[in-house]
Amino acid sequence: MSSLLFALVVLVAMGLFVHTVYDRVRLLLASRPIDRFDQLAERLKAVLVYAFGQKKFVTGEQPAGWMHFFIFWGFVILGLQIVTMFARAFSEHFYVPGFAPHLLGGPFLVLRDLMEVIVSAAILLALYRWLVSHPPRLFGYRPAETRLAGQSHWEAVVILLFILTIMSGGLLYDGGRLVYLAGNPSLEAERPWEPASAVVGALLTPLGAAWAKGISDVAWWVHNLVVLAFLNLLPRSKHFHILTSIPNVFFRKLEPVGALSLMDLENTETFGTSHIDQFTWKQTLDMYSCTECGRCSSHCPATLSGKPLAPRQLLLNLRDYLYEHQQEMINKRLGKTDGEVGENIVGETLIHDDVLWACTTCRACEEACPVLIEYVDKIVDMRRHLVQEEARFPAELTRTFKAMETQSNPWGLSYEKRAEWAEGLDIPLVAEHPDAEYLYFVGCAGSFDERNKKTTIAFAKLLKKAGVSFAILGPEEPCNGETARRLGNEYLFQSMAQTAIGVFTQYTVKKIIVNCPHCFNTIKNEFPQFDGHYEVIHAAELLSRLVREGKLTLQAQPPQRVTYHDSCYYGRYNDIYDTPREILTKIPGTQLQEMERHKHTGMCCGGGGGWMWMEEPHDKRVNHLRVAQALETQPDTIAVSCPFCMIMLGDGLKAKSDEETVQLLDVVELVGNSTS
Ligand code: SF4
Ligand code: SF4
Repeated sequence: MSSLLFALVVLVAMGLFVHTVYDRVRLLLASRPIDRFDQLAERLKAVLVYAFGQKKFVTGEQPAGWMHFFIFWGFVILGLQIVTMFARAFSEHFYVPGFAPHLLGGPFLVLRDLMEVIVSAAILLALYRWLVSHPPRLFGYRPAETRLAGQSHWEAVVILLFILTIMSGGLLYDGGRLVYLAGNPSLEAERPWEPASAVVGALLTPLGAAWAKGISDVAWWVHNLVVLAFLNLLPRSKHFHILTSIPNVFFRKLEPVGALSLMDLENTETFGTSHIDQFTWKQTLDMYSCTECGRCSSHCPATLSGKPLAPRQLLLNLRDYLYEHQQEMINKRLGKTDGEVGENIVGETLIHDDVLWACTTCRACEEACPVLIEYVDKIVDMRRHLVQEEARFPAELTRTFKAMETQSNPWGLSYEKRAEWAEGLDIPLVAEHPDAEYLYFVGCAGSFDERNKKTTIAFAKLLKKAGVSFAILGPEEPCNGETARRLGNEYLFQSMAQTAIGVFTQYTVKKIIVNCPHCFNTIKNEFPQFDGHYEVIHAAELLSRLVREGKLTLQAQPPQRVTYHDSCYYGRYNDIYDTPREILTKIPGTQLQEMERHKHTGMCCGGGGGWMWMEEPHDKRVNHLRVAQALETQPDTIAVSCPFCMIMLGDGLKAKSDEETVQLLDVVELVGNSTS
């Protein structure tokens, strides 16, 4: 009777679960197509590292990271226990094939018992965070994250209680069996392998076999019913990530993270994303997979400087809207309706313009996210709609776009002045030295900004001193359009990129040296979208090599404490963290002092994503926050390797009136000073 009843309950619960998941799958299929089925080996590797290895958790904030690690592995190991307990409705001594006590069952039982205890402890810690300590990572970062504050968070608490019940139900079930089945050969084979269940059994022994059986049977029912209830809550809650995060990791972006998606401007009817059905299925899967952990917002410079953007809130708003319009999207896919689904989400309805413009495209959110959710592409896609379809963008950008169109630089200075910095330095031009090994692509900031021209000159002198065969394009050097792309002006970017590639082709350029991470990223990672393939070398890498080869000699300098600020576009976008540090530490007398946020968790200077040309409210400046973090290390010098960082941190130092006592220098300048 109880087997029959249980079978009926399982059928109903599984039917409901499959029905809900089926709709979620149909919703996924109703999203835009994108190919994420290539490079299977690479994808499987990511699953091993990020899903099973839980890399972002164990290398991130503690103790929450290890807590999640044990809950995850507890679920993996206890999956066998759940199957075993379900099957025992029909066969009292069932074991999953291969997992009987005389085979793999012994070690499994030890692990199972330990996991039941460890996961219970982790859940108690999680309950403490939700019910007592209320960290902002769970309750929202103000002012941007309003949606999580003031909520009951019942769902999180219920799920935790469910897990706790599943763990304790398992222990009581097995503990009771050890008492009432004592003497049974299969049970006696289990006994030595179940330390935690044995403790529970010892506690139940005084009650006698009948009570132990009653408690074990009740625990079995409660355990199995809670598992089924849990399963049905999953696709309707943030815990859907338990099912979707592994596929989300598998389908991660494998193109260089610094390459924004290429728009087919010739064959598209819509420019950018403005409606919920315009996201790709991977972007929809991102929405399913958010655990609401808040790691993204806790690292976001926009959130931390009081701007209206918090990545978690942005994604959850999109997810709510997606679920509200689930049936409409499915109907559209089935051909029952046509036209856009829902309202235009960009603007007053859902994602305000200011939220989108607040992003510096720094990728701190993506780096922090344990389930590899992608943000920058979504934000830029929505900016593309604003710029290209609605011509709606911050007023100051009108001048920037115009300047890029007419003078090929965002400053709007005459393109003819691009090589003024080189006057009197005898720097060869490519037109005169087409056989030079390297093209030194100076970039707009290094060519036009007064402060950054000093870095450019220092670098050119080092190249000459080391006997490097190089030349510059001079007035022929075009802007590569990076800023336009990050600002959503894809049309302008594509025309500038194609112009630049045309110039490189004209001079058969193969190797390019840059000292700007934005130029580096775009030429290396985005130009291949237009068949522009080059060997792109950043300044620190080249200088490091020249020192190694003995072509530059670093001489002793007065002792100084240097803190190095990672540029987002070298660091998080291109994984260049160590080379600039290596060359700094090779300068005799230099003591490198790391900021709390450095390398992968380094904080943006506030100048990326077009913010170099936008007005930031004076009381909410990212560069002020970053300079304060740098000053905590009590440096003599702040070292940078990006012209935008140089400008932003320079302004920040001025605002703090510290520019007299703390130097701000490019790594190239520090090398230059020690070789002169
Ligand atoms: S890219 Fe940077 S600024 Fe933009 S949402 Fe992510 S963390 Fe925030
Ligand atoms: S996007 Fe990632 S980091 Fe942000 S809340 Fe969701 S799971 Fe956590």
